[in-house]
Amino acid sequence: MTHSTDTLADDRNQRLFERAQALIPGGVNSPVRAFRAVGGTPRFIQRAQGAYLWDANGQRYIDYIGSWGPMILGHGHPAVVEAVQKAALEGFSFGAPTEREVELAEEILRLVPSMEMLRLVSSGTEAGMSAIRLARGATGRPKIVKFNGCYHGHADSLLVKAGSGLATFGHATSAGVPPEVVQHTLVLEYNDVAQLEEAFALHGSEIACVIMEPIAGNMNFVRASVPFMQRARELCTQHGALLVLDEVMTGFRVALGGAQSLYAQQIPGFAPDLTVLGKVIGGGMPLAAFGGPRAIMEQLAPLGPVYQAGTLSGNPVATACGLATLREVARPGFYERLGERTRSLVQGLEGAAREVGLPFCTDSQGGMFGFFLLPQLPQDYPQVLRTDGPRFNHLFHGLLGRGVYVAPALYEACFVSAAHTEEDIEATVAAAREVFAELVR
Ligand code: PLP
Repeated sequence: MTHSTDTLADDRNQRLFERAQALIPGGVNSPVRAFRAVGGTPRFIQRAQGAYLWDANGQRYIDYIGSWGPMILGHGHPAVVEAVQKAALEGFSFGAPTEREVELAEEILRLVPSMEMLRLVSSGTEAGMSAIRLARGATGRPKIVKFNGCYHGHADSLLVKAGSGLATFGHATSAGVPPEVVQHTLVLEYNDVAQLEEAFALHGSEIACVIMEPIAGNMNFVRASVPFMQRARELCTQHGALLVLDEVMTGFRVALGGAQSLYAQQIPGFAPDLTVLGKVIGGGMPLAAFGGPRAIMEQLAPLGPVYQAGTLSGNPVATACGLATLREVARPGFYERLGERTRSLVQGLEGAAREVGLPFCTDSQGGMFGFFLLPQLPQDYPQVLRTDGPRFNHLFHGLLGRGVYVAPALYEACFVSAAHTEEDIEATVAAAREVFAELVR
């Protein structure tokens, strides 16, 4: 294994970072890429193939970020590359409908039966924001419920932390968001059934929707408990609110039918009202979607009064990439194999931690996993934050220096792709074993 080149005079990552910082705030186009949480120099990626990334210094990494989720087939899958090349030759963007949009919609709706119609957009943020506007428009209600630690993109009304109590609404977590914009957002603790019941008792008739990540990948990896999901469904139905599952990360990542298909196995008749998708459905291109029952979706313009639009929505190259990706993941046995590979990784990591007596636990589903430097799996965001930050940072840099690239923040999930081999998993566990030994020293 090669080691970090941070200290070398000819560090192209460092030189690029300096150039970037002069031009782009923080040197990055999305904050987590800046390595602020873990320190050090972000790696500027030059190319990727299969399960690997190569940075500007030519160093290779086993990639467990997968572009934060989309790259479920690994990088440069031949069928996807071919589809994208062919589509690019036919034209980049038309601003008019195409057959491929219809094909992609048919494919997604076939695989996620809770949706009867969908609309394609260009990012998960846009999809989540539009789903909330639709929920408010369809119900005629102003308030939304979200959960602490769940991320649904950076729309103003979602950049909120909890207020001082259930009777009060949230405070903006970003400058530039006026209090009036978040005054209708109620932030509750994830997996807290009693709080959700109380919120509905207090505000039920005004709540347009409850939005949640079914497996919260933005607090590493925390599952909504089955009783919590079931109660959320019941309360929404009783009070006429919509249940919106944000499956931007989990959709086509944890199972072919998304996380909702897993809850439907445990909760009879379970289905969300609206589903938000992104990441995998674009296969690495800017593409996302939201969808649900026909009666709700027909509230959207041009049929209904809820406005929503996009110059690049349903982009022909992005839809080709997404469609080719979905056709691969829909092959029989895909998620079984991916899940086995992911389990073999997390079990290997747990075993290596146990050998040295390091408190460590993991969870995984399909090609998504999380790991915590904690003795047991957290159930909500305050529990996730009990992780010792400096120890996590040591782990992150120890792995990175050994050619293993995991998420550069302790509150982010990681991803295994179909391109990861058993040898990649073994190399990862071997690297982790060395770093774990340093952590307990
Ligand atoms: N929802 C979830 C669950 C996400 O994980 C993300 C991004 O990580 C988003 C929404 C926002 O998606 P995008 O970054 O494509 O705007």
